[in-house]
Amino acid sequence: MDTLISVIIAVVVSLFFVRGYLKKLTAKAAPRAAAAPAPVAMHPCPRCSQPIPKTSSFCSHCGAALAMWTVHRAEITTSSGDAKGKPKPVINASLCVGCGGCIEVCPEVGAMELIQGKAILTHPELCTGHAKCAEACPTNAIAYAYDGVLQTVKVPNVKEDFETNVSGLYIVGELGGMGLIKTAINEGKLAIDYVRQRLQAETGKSGAPDDAFDVAIVGAGPAGLSASLSAHQYDLHYITLEQGEIASTIRNYPRHKFLMAEPLSIPLYGNLYIADSSKEALLAVWETIVQNTGVRIQTNERLERVQRNGSGFHVESSKRKYYARYVVLALGRRGSARKLSVPGEELSKVAHRLIEAETYEDKNVLVVGGGDSAIEAAIALGRAGKNRVTLSYRGADFKRARERNQHFLEAAEKESKLRVVRRSNLVEILPASVAIDVQGAREEIPNDYVFILIGGESPEEFLTKMGVEIVEKSLQPTPTFS
Ligand SMILES: Cc1cc2nc3c(=O)[nH]c(=O)nc-3n(C[C@H](O)[C@H](O)[C@H](O)COP(=O)(O)OP(=O)(O)OC[C@H]3O[C@@H](n4cnc5c(N)ncnc54)[C@H](O)[C@@H]3O)c2cc1C
Ligand code: SF4
Repeated sequence: MDTLISVIIAVVVSLFFVRGYLKKLTAKAAPRAAAAPAPVAMHPCPRCSQPIPKTSSFCSHCGAALAMWTVHRAEITTSSGDAKGKPKPVINASLCVGCGGCIEVCPEVGAMELIQGKAILTHPELCTGHAKCAEACPTNAIAYAYDGVLQTVKVPNVKEDFETNVSGLYIVGELGGMGLIKTAINEGKLAIDYVRQRLQAETGKSGAPDDAFDVAIVGAGPAGLSASLSAHQYDLHYITLEQGEIASTIRNYPRHKFLMAEPLSIPLYGNLYIADSSKEALLAVWETIVQNTGVRIQTNERLERVQRNGSGFHVESSKRKYYARYVVLALGRRGSARKLSVPGEELSKVAHRLIEAETYEDKNVLVVGGGDSAIEAAIALGRAGKNRVTLSYRGADFKRARERNQHFLEAAEKESKLRVVRRSNLVEILPASVAIDVQGAREEIPNDYVFILIGGESPEEFLTKMGVEIVEKSLQPTPTFS
């Protein structure tokens, strides 16, 4: 009997403790259920259409890097209106390649610094709003904010498949708003994937002329080159036009520029790792790729016009007309320099851009133009070495240029650092001299180099003529390191 009573007491006591323990467990579980994470906001991957979290930086299904669509997915906004106050730079850390260009041009020493390879406004109190850094940034990583309100940027209205409002006309690379070699390469590749899908869906139904190209690719920078390699790989009937040489923008970087990039996959080549490499090394790889693959690029052929016609486009170049079902524009953002069309302009000593003034020494140099770039180039060439610089301008004064540059020019002229010939026109370029017309009289000057810096057509003007809609977008900067 005693044993039975002991067992009953033991069972009751155990039940008491078990009940207490179960109560505690339920109490713990309840708040956990209340704090259960909200459902993750999803959206379709622009490449494979599978649902992915909105916060993802890459697609877990197809591996696409979603930063590529930052501009395409940004909302169209209206202009930030009358900008008030001084502009302050806002740096997009994922676009910054750490070249230091912004820091070099900033007159306020110490306002910006490079930290872990990224430009940072470390001392905002020193920034007085010269607004030179954004101009100098090669990757469009800097936007301005006025009184904390981010300025809008003008970009072509491009959908997530890189097609514009003009059906069949695609824009890839820096022209679309994202400035980096890796994004340009990836976009070029993807645009051709989309074009190929459409061509396959339309087989036999296009009604295009027999000699029509499947696709005309314009520009042979990283974006156009990778689009051309993809078209070559898929055996499409393609044509690629390049106004200068292959990869002109990269060719024109300052000598031995360090390229900050990540490994990436190039069509028909495989993985390319260009981080911490010089531009010379990258150009050498690209030249090898072009030679080994046999990809066809028509250099020194400039696109003049594109017009939608029937089931495709009339594509007019500086040499001839073509018909193409689709057009992929990979023109970059440096635009096309205006030419004078004078005899001798094709000589190799003639340039339409000055890259490194210090490399010219003890030379006879002619600079043509009356705007800021011509004045800045003439002053830099006059100052850099002991060059004999002549600045020829068709106008009587330099009112078009910034006041500051006008003062610098006056001072340089007074100190005989350069010669300014107003109301003059360049009429002929010869191998060792140039001829200028000074109010009806021909003057011949010894010459080693000519810089024709008379402006050019901006990409926006070019696109507007083709009917491409240009919109304003406010791009939020990605967080930078602190
Ligand atoms: C000084 C400098 C340093 C940079 N450093 C880096 C870096 O370290 N890392 C990095 O990732 N990015 C860097 N960038 C940015 C990078 O170079 C660009 O983002 C990239 O080149 C864009 O490629 P793209 O093919 O879109 O355009 P681009 O490379 O500009 O190529 C466009 C091509 O189109 C051609 N073209 C233009 N108009 C016409 C026309 N009407 N007809 C025919 N052809 C035409 C041009 O001649 C050019 O060859 C730098 C840029 C500069 C200027
Ligand atoms: S990429 Fe632009 S923001 Fe970055 S260091 Fe160069 S100029 Fe400055």
